[in-house]
Amino acid sequence: MTTTHTPVEHLDVLVVGAGISGIGAGRYLTTELPRRSFAILEARETSGGTWDLFRYPGIRSDSDLHTFGYEFKPWRDEQSIADAPRILAYLRETITENGLDERIRYSHRVLSAAWSTPEARWLVEVERTGTGERLQLSAGWLFCAGGYYRYDEGFTPVFDGRERFRGPIVHPQHWPEGLEYAGKRVLVIGSGATAVTLVPALAETAGSVTMLQRTPSYVMPVPRTDVLADRLRAWFGDERGFALTRRKNIARGIGIWRFCQKYPRAARKLIRWVNARQLPEGYPVDEHFNPPYDPWDQRLCAVPDGDLFRAIRNGTADVVTDRIATFTEDGVLLESGRELQADVVVTATGLTVQAIGGISLTVDGEPVHLPDTVTYKGMMLSGVPNFVIAIGYTNSSWTLKIGLLCEHFCRLLAQMDAHGYDVARPEPSDPDMPTRPFLDFAAGYIRRAVDQLPRQGDRLPWLTSTSYSSDVKLLRAESVTDPELHLSRAATAAAVTA
Ligand SMILES: Cc1cc2nc3c(=O)[nH]c(=O)nc-3n(C[C@H](O)[C@H](O)[C@H](O)COP(=O)(O)OP(=O)(O)OC[C@H]3O[C@@H](n4cnc5c(N)ncnc54)[C@H](O)[C@@H]3O)c2cc1C
Repeated sequence: MTTTHTPVEHLDVLVVGAGISGIGAGRYLTTELPRRSFAILEARETSGGTWDLFRYPGIRSDSDLHTFGYEFKPWRDEQSIADAPRILAYLRETITENGLDERIRYSHRVLSAAWSTPEARWLVEVERTGTGERLQLSAGWLFCAGGYYRYDEGFTPVFDGRERFRGPIVHPQHWPEGLEYAGKRVLVIGSGATAVTLVPALAETAGSVTMLQRTPSYVMPVPRTDVLADRLRAWFGDERGFALTRRKNIARGIGIWRFCQKYPRAARKLIRWVNARQLPEGYPVDEHFNPPYDPWDQRLCAVPDGDLFRAIRNGTADVVTDRIATFTEDGVLLESGRELQADVVVTATGLTVQAIGGISLTVDGEPVHLPDTVTYKGMMLSGVPNFVIAIGYTNSSWTLKIGLLCEHFCRLLAQMDAHGYDVARPEPSDPDMPTRPFLDFAAGYIRRAVDQLPRQGDRLPWLTSTSYSSDVKLLRAESVTDPELHLSRAATAAAVTA
């Protein structure tokens, strides 16, 4: 391993990650701040992040692409809930259309970044993943779009007797190419978005598919295509039609979310009613589709055109709600004493959360411990200058937040340029402000990681909003300056609050 110590290349902005967030950030930088230099560093050999990594059968979004896609690029495909190849094609088109090919440096993993206040810049340590070679870059800003989970390992709980099972045990994050499951008995462990996607897809050719869940999730059928979107496009053209559909879908998402939050019992009853209509007569709906929490306390699982329910009706898939006592040679033994036989086991048991792409940060030599930081406007960290963390929504399309956050970031940089500032450092004026977890989301993978993530405060601008309409006001409409964001110049390093 060699380290290059020649004078380092300097960039105004270094974007980490070429997934949907990093590509979007690249496009905003290109159009809003054309004079700023930037590069996108991507650890993998290719773009697309999540949408390239996951290769399991049926991989698709559960958001509609009119809101999950970019505001600046109409989604034209007939699938509104789209499969990964279509999403990837859209992302790669965005790269080409905006000249981002030249900006993305593949096989470059950012390892660490050290902020120096006197120099007002980050010194960034990078590894070329192919060769292990190390290099350094410096950057005025770090825009971290590294997603929220580890790419090298998914989450699998410890299962007693796992080594006894004779067949393959597969995690959806590492789906083996050419895995043979046609005609076989497949057991899918899990009840989240991945499990409900996999089950109907596998059921097309598998002998049988059983979804084994500890706790049920809310599952709702949604149309794969959006007839109204097609009509609006035909009537008003691509751009206008897309803008209208996007608005419609945002409003619908907000409406559903608010209804579920305000009337959880009615929402629960409605979902149960829809489920019962999709399931065979006499099906134990309450056993398998009635979670112990309220709708939207965890992400609601969408099934396009009710494909999961169809597979259950056809008898090609079934659901078991129980706990694993132990694996056996031929499957699993459940706590109820029942045994499920399987040839292949899929552990759709989740992700391992990782914030800021696993990068270790220091500020003037002091390590940044994320749980000691508080998010500013849901996009920067207290005490960490010139750093953006691109975390989207968990209760609607992730990217709705990322788009607003990119706009705000570009406006902030333009404002700093106009006034000659180099440094933006968020700092709460009340050091005793009460804090709570950054994400108020009950999903298992968030709860497991809560003590590794930043926190949020109890007042603006230290709240992490999950509401698109509040964020439109905060990030798009309101000023980028704030008494809690201290702007200063590098040379004097004298803090001036704008
Ligand atoms: C199977 C699946 C389906 C999903 N479906 C939806 C959905 O329908 N709707 C929704 O809103 N959300 C969905 N999500 C959440 C989804 O991950 C996000 O919405 C979105 O894709 C995240 O994009 P991103 O660019 O922020 O992160 P990612 O897609 O994770 O991309 C991050 C990129 O950063 C790179 N990277 C990370 N660390 C470093 C580093 N240190 N140095 C260099 N590069 C680095 C990674 O290699 C990767 O390419 C889904 C997630 C999964 C796993």
